[in-house]
Amino acid sequence: MRRVSIFGATGSIGQNTIDLIARDPGSYQVVALTGASNIELLAHDARRLNAEIAVTADEALLADLQNALAGSGIKTAAGTAALTEAAMRPADWVMSSIVGAAGLAPGLAALEQGATLALANKESLVCAGALMLRTAAKHKARLLPVDSEHSAVFQALVGEDMSAVERIIITASGGAFRDWPVEDLASATLDQASSHPNWDMGQRITIDSASMFNKALELIETKEYFGVSPDQIEVLVHPESLIHAMVGFKDGALMAHVGPPDMRHAIGYALHWPDRKALPVERLDLAAIGQLTFRAPCETRWPALRLAREVMQTGGLAGAVFNAAKETALDGFIDGRLRFTDMAGIVEDVLSKLSAQQGHIDAIMTLDNVASIDHLARKEAQEAINRKAV
Ligand code: NDP
Ligand code: MG
Repeated sequence: MRRVSIFGATGSIGQNTIDLIARDPGSYQVVALTGASNIELLAHDARRLNAEIAVTADEALLADLQNALAGSGIKTAAGTAALTEAAMRPADWVMSSIVGAAGLAPGLAALEQGATLALANKESLVCAGALMLRTAAKHKARLLPVDSEHSAVFQALVGEDMSAVERIIITASGGAFRDWPVEDLASATLDQASSHPNWDMGQRITIDSASMFNKALELIETKEYFGVSPDQIEVLVHPESLIHAMVGFKDGALMAHVGPPDMRHAIGYALHWPDRKALPVERLDLAAIGQLTFRAPCETRWPALRLAREVMQTGGLAGAVFNAAKETALDGFIDGRLRFTDMAGIVEDVLSKLSAQQGHIDAIMTLDNVASIDHLARKEAQEAINRKAV
């Protein structure tokens, strides 16, 4: 039996992971399941999968979780330190699917105990890519990509030598507003930004898809994970979301990964790696689909892509600043204090302010330094939002 933990079990990726694990209950022993606000679902799945411990990030909800699990024998805990402690419980395979920078500390703790970490939480690599890779190497832990594009690249690279790779192309659906006139974007509502044409995902990543902040994070994730230079990474708009990524080799060949827009493929690949096992995903009928289309990304429509390239050039802790400012600006849009098109400006302001000050972005990459620059960037972003708020 493989011992598995799921961080962010109540979310979209977490639920898809549970779907796969629950189909084969004899193969897995569930160690920790974690959530934040959705106590009912967390307790339901903890009972169903007979988890050893259920943890909520929200300390105020501990009593609710205890009540919901009363009599089950399942341990309970709450708070960010409890999340990290749960990640230290011995496990063979850990899904990192908390949303946001909050996923970093538990992910590092899982790597430190030598677990294979299936990484959906791209923010970990954006904020602290070098630290994640260093920690994995030090503890002989495996880091497997779950983001669909990165899983696709990883699969296209099986048996290949990185020195033969010329470029990596990650595709983007273009999100909710790909066909909107640019001048209408300022009036986009939360509901409009929260609906994705192809993927069914959590609300935050869905809005980040409309703004392309998601693809911006993924550019940085590609650089960190595969160790390529920024000019080797391209974004290609592909409205059908069937090709997830392509790897271009020195001989001109492009290896494309084609599959349905269903995260259970990438999750299942990471779960069964290095084997391939049957997965309950749709088999594509390409003749019925007929055609696949592609467009170049427009940086006027999606300034987040330009900002990501600047972050990659700056290096150091710029990724942590970028992510924290983005998360705060996204909160501002969700709360109705910012317009959709204001988010990129807030992120750009915070990046240029903190880049100009010594001792921040150039500090060495430790968890403490990442946490303190994350805190500072959120404070700066909040102040910028207060100055701008609608
Ligand atoms: P969801 O919003 O659906 O789920 C987020 C999970 O994190 C929930 O379990 C939530 O708990 C928990 N959570 C929220 N805030 C905190 C916090 N402060 N501390 C600890 N836990 C918290 O997100 P997704 O599943 O869509 O995304 C998860 C990650 O995977 C993100 O990094 C995203 O970028 C990445 N990803 C997602 C894809 C997708 O298809 N959804 C595709 C590729 C990558 P609760 O719900 O109980 O409040
Ligand atoms: Mg993705």
